[in-house]
Amino acid sequence: MRAVVTGGAGFVGSHLVDRLVADGWRVVVLDDLSSGDTANVEAHRGVEGFEFHEVDICGDWTVAGDVDLVLNFASPASPPRYLERPLETLDVGSTGVRKVVEFAAAKGARLVQASTSEVYGEPTVHPQTEEYWGNVNPIGPRSVYDESKRFAEALLAAHHRLGRVDVGIVRIFNTYGPRLRASDGRVVSNFVDQALRGEPLTVYGTGNQTRSFCYVDDLVRGVLAFAAQPGELGPVNLGNPHEVTVLDLATLVGELTGTRVELVHSELPADDPTQRRPDITRAGQLLGWKPEVSLRDGLSRTVEWFRARG
Ligand code: UDP
Repeated sequence: MRAVVTGGAGFVGSHLVDRLVADGWRVVVLDDLSSGDTANVEAHRGVEGFEFHEVDICGDWTVAGDVDLVLNFASPASPPRYLERPLETLDVGSTGVRKVVEFAAAKGARLVQASTSEVYGEPTVHPQTEEYWGNVNPIGPRSVYDESKRFAEALLAAHHRLGRVDVGIVRIFNTYGPRLRASDGRVVSNFVDQALRGEPLTVYGTGNQTRSFCYVDDLVRGVLAFAAQPGELGPVNLGNPHEVTVLDLATLVGELTGTRVELVHSELPADDPTQRRPDITRAGQLLGWKPEVSLRDGLSRTVEWFRARG
């Protein structure tokens, strides 16, 4: 079996690649290295069937030979990073996804699209079920990410109705673990990096906003279980329902790094969601999936990884 993973040198993508290679897949990674890093897939260089191509999915590209599965994980995903590149973010979720769908259709491969809890925007339904249509500000700064992911879902749903190509959508909630870059800008990597440097933790707003953090290995298990369901569009939420405030997270990071954390508050970014927690009933029913790694264990592993890298 052969898989193409776009964004395969990125954070989630490279963990998917690890699992696929370990399971005996021949894996082709496409990544433009705008936020990915070849170091993330270095271990597979020379493995039979493994290929890496530096490719922007919005450009002209193809992959020769048979392909059974396409995982589209190419996109900036961290708010500060997608806000820095608003037009590229809109392109990757529209032109890029269109090209990936055409490719999967031509190969007769199943395509799994990484969507996001951001499709729910500032949710008025809590926890968020897949039936909830969301509450997104279409012209706010985050819309470049949220609306391009919503467009990608619309595009896949249309293809599904046309019956041209086997597509599926996973809505990924906040995910963390080794290989998050210190400069990524998301809360877990910021807090762990800051704590290990003995710097104050940067809390945006009051810190009473909530998120629910899923360890990357759990997420990967869910994505691949969903990929193995031919004909299933989803969407399916993948995330850990254990909800904490940003202040709770700061306290836990302090404890696990053995540092006395100091907090410095700054302004809450525009349209930053107040609360977020996945309802994962559907993932349980469809895939028999639920997360297994607690926030404490996953964060300890993440802290160890950041520590080892200095
Ligand atoms: N956040 C924070 N300090 C940081 C980075 C993020 O307080 O250094 C907050 C952010 O405002 C949001 C939450 O942490 O409320 C999660 O942010 P992140 O960027 O990780 O992901 P999001 O869920 O917003 O996409």
